[in-house]
Amino acid sequence: MARRVVKLQVIKTVRIPVHYAVTRRKLSILDSLTARTTYGVWLWSELFKEHKLKGSYTDRARFYGQVKREAKLGTMVQCCFDTAAWMWSSHRELHRAWRRNVVIARREGDKKWLRKLLRREPQEPFTNGMQRKVPIWFDNRFGAIEKSKHLKLCPYVARVSTLRRGVKLTIPLNPAQYHLDLLKSGTMKSFQLVKRDGKYCVHVKLEFHVPDQSVHAVRGIDLGVKRSIASVMLKPNQPLRSSDFAIQTDGLKRDRLNRLEKRTAELQQARKWEPLKRIRHKRLHVGEYYDRLAAKQVAATSQNSIVVVGYPKEIKYKNFKGNDKPRLRKVLAHWTYGRQIRYIQEECAKLGIPSKASDERWSSRTCHRCGSRHTERITQSVFHCWNCELIYNADYNGSINIGSRLLPKATTRQARDDLAYTGDEQAREIVACEPRSPHPFMGG
Ligand SMILES: [Zn+2]
Repeated sequence: MARRVVKLQVIKTVRIPVHYAVTRRKLSILDSLTARTTYGVWLWSELFKEHKLKGSYTDRARFYGQVKREAKLGTMVQCCFDTAAWMWSSHRELHRAWRRNVVIARREGDKKWLRKLLRREPQEPFTNGMQRKVPIWFDNRFGAIEKSKHLKLCPYVARVSTLRRGVKLTIPLNPAQYHLDLLKSGTMKSFQLVKRDGKYCVHVKLEFHVPDQSVHAVRGIDLGVKRSIASVMLKPNQPLRSSDFAIQTDGLKRDRLNRLEKRTAELQQARKWEPLKRIRHKRLHVGEYYDRLAAKQVAATSQNSIVVVGYPKEIKYKNFKGNDKPRLRKVLAHWTYGRQIRYIQEECAKLGIPSKASDERWSSRTCHRCGSRHTERITQSVFHCWNCELIYNADYNGSINIGSRLLPKATTRQARDDLAYTGDEQAREIVACEPRSPHPFMGG
């Protein structure tokens, strides 16, 4: 299993309030520091706009001296540059997506949508001037979160460079027990000074090192539109057993989303805008919650294996508007496979389980036993191979294909020599796994 595997860094951001006993003098120093760094970000942002900078190293070197002089921030202007670069790249990304939608709306002649879109053009950074402070990330060149040596009332302090050369400011923090545990186990990457509702807090980015688990098996995962997650545990040189197969349905999630949609429609009809406004983000939050839950479950049941998730990229493109499948298209439009894959990878990384997102092309149309692509779907969930006459659960077939790409040899294809269902219990037990949709072909 010597393939390159993408291992995610585990990075977590925590928000720790500044201690209430911080002195007025220190607060005023913080105020002027954050005002000045915001000014630095603004200066960079103007340059990004004027010279159409991309955010590269040469861009920074070109105007470095100029901004440093104007902002009077010393080398801290580097952090301002990073923030400005991030603001502009995310703005450009949003704007690209917006332009794409405008083109589609024009082409389809959807006037209502177009009007809505034109009102919502993403705004450039600092369109309304410097109304709010923009926090920058201080890395270890400009500050640190340290254990306090002299202060008795607080266990941790933030040390930040100030506008005066060589002078550092010590800010007492007020971390909760939860923060203390995290600070103890992680290493600090960088932190922000953020003022919200008149109070300062620090956002600390922490990195965690999780010991890698040893890998004895491959877990292939196929994300489906109809059923949430189908997975197969593949062990080298071992036949598949029914306990290696699992399906996680997303009935609960679908149920809640449907109810929410119904409620939204009712409110829209009744023109009750206030309650509508209140549930505006609920759809997103409910979806995120259930995807996270499912990802946690995948990670918890994938001990000592490498997780491979198939990326079903092409399916969304293939089902374009006007292909006579409106219902499928509607389901697909809300299908959040990108988020599901991201969550699965994050949750696996937290436990030290390596994971990989693989390009799923052909995995649903290839027969896992003989490798032939001369296949068909008898129904949405039943797969048939014309070459070796295998009849199989379509989701499991996909999962096996996705997972077996990481095996040294596709062990599940041993049956090529013997077309009987050698050692593959699933081929026989498919009826037991499909209680809800009995099918005449599935008897084997
Ligand atoms: Zn076959």
